[in-house]
Amino acid sequence: MKKLFIILILFILISGCVQEVGDVPLQTGGDEPYEGLRVNFIAVHGDSILIESPEGQKVLIDGGSEAHAHNYLKSKNITVIDHAIATHPHSDHMPGIEWIMSDEDFRLKKLYGNKGAEAHLSSRMAKIGLVNVQVLKAGDSIDIGGAKLDVLWPPPDTGAIPIFSNDLSLVTRLEYGNVSFLFMGDCEAFCEYGIISSEAEIDSTILKAGHHGLETSSKPEFLQAVSPDVIVTTSYSSSQYEPPVYIENRDINEYVMNTDSSHFDTQWNGTIRITTDGNAYNISLEKAPRGERW
Ligand SMILES: [Zn+2]
Repeated sequence: MKKLFIILILFILISGCVQEVGDVPLQTGGDEPYEGLRVNFIAVHGDSILIESPEGQKVLIDGGSEAHAHNYLKSKNITVIDHAIATHPHSDHMPGIEWIMSDEDFRLKKLYGNKGAEAHLSSRMAKIGLVNVQVLKAGDSIDIGGAKLDVLWPPPDTGAIPIFSNDLSLVTRLEYGNVSFLFMGDCEAFCEYGIISSEAEIDSTILKAGHHGLETSSKPEFLQAVSPDVIVTTSYSSSQYEPPVYIENRDINEYVMNTDSSHFDTQWNGTIRITTDGNAYNISLEKAPRGERW
């Protein structure tokens, strides 16, 4: 990973105060409009990521298991989602999108999914006036206004991968100037090795690790190939009825110990916001260094 242009500032948000660590004045920790890119890893049970593009479009990748993402968006007065992406139809990713779909105060302009999500969501489309769920595959890309989201996985021919498998998760990469993000959904080792073999560009500044940081994902070869400066993991529950459990992944721990990199987790850090102007980036944590589990 090229660290040359990357300057990390850590904003620690405690009790409404902002404590700045670092010395570069990249403004962005708050909710004010910003001309660059903001990526919010929302504190939900499961995955939910809100991307705010340089031209103000809103992209939601997954919605978590319940109404947390819906409530977060409302608290930020965000009611128009330009692109919603269901990486796969599991109970810790998709119900939050359905929650938003069923609220008349929200407008959801386009909806994308993998094959399994399409099968599940299509029946609900007519209700909210959307024609269809666009199924994405490697090679597709979405213009999000001032940046684009490239789809790296699954391949057009998914072969024998079962339709509801984690390994069929939509994987996307976002590049903005010198800063890039790789969003892995619940991809596990099969998918990681598949992406490496596809020879797509995967070197990325920030990695949202696959499958909540469980040891079925984030294999050493994959971490080396991505060479992230920052790894983000998201809270994991064995079912939507169980509280999140904390995951220790030896490969992630070893990578972070042996490289100049950092690891944050929504279960401990709450919502994680990364803002970038394409050169530097900063990270705002709702709880730091690690708050109480929620
Ligand atoms: Zn999951």
